[in-house]
Amino acid sequence: MSNECLFCKIAHKEIPSERVFEDDEIVAFKDINPAAPIHILIVPKTHIATLNDLDKNHIELMGHMIHTAKKLAEEFKIHESGYRTVINCNSDAGQEVFHLHIHLLGGKPLGKMG
Ligand code: AMP
Ligand code: ZN
Repeated sequence: MSNECLFCKIAHKEIPSERVFEDDEIVAFKDINPAAPIHILIVPKTHIATLNDLDKNHIELMGHMIHTAKKLAEEFKIHESGYRTVINCNSDAGQEVFHLHIHLLGGKPLGKMG
């Protein structure tokens, strides 16, 4: 855990969040400033700053995170209408919180990226 990290604090319940899923490895909670009707963040409990910091030991964890995104899409009933998963990395992508997270967005047409 990084003492200065917002998502570490959320993962360890030092800061409240609207949780929708949790297990030993990950937590998922609603984005505080949603960009779509459904906007969930899926976050590892261990501190990984950016996608650049992934190594081979994280492959199973990332698979679990993306599988959880799929399960949550089903739970929130956006799996048939469609949804988007996004990982922002560093400044050109607009990453604001330097603790790896997958955005799960849906519940309206999201438009083309780019
Ligand atoms: P990113 O720009 O990819 O780093 O995304 C960070 C996301 O975290 C943004 O969508 C923020 O709205 C969201 N966020 C920031 N603080 C909180 C918080 N306390 N609880 C939930 N989501 C947050
Ligand atoms: Zn962290």
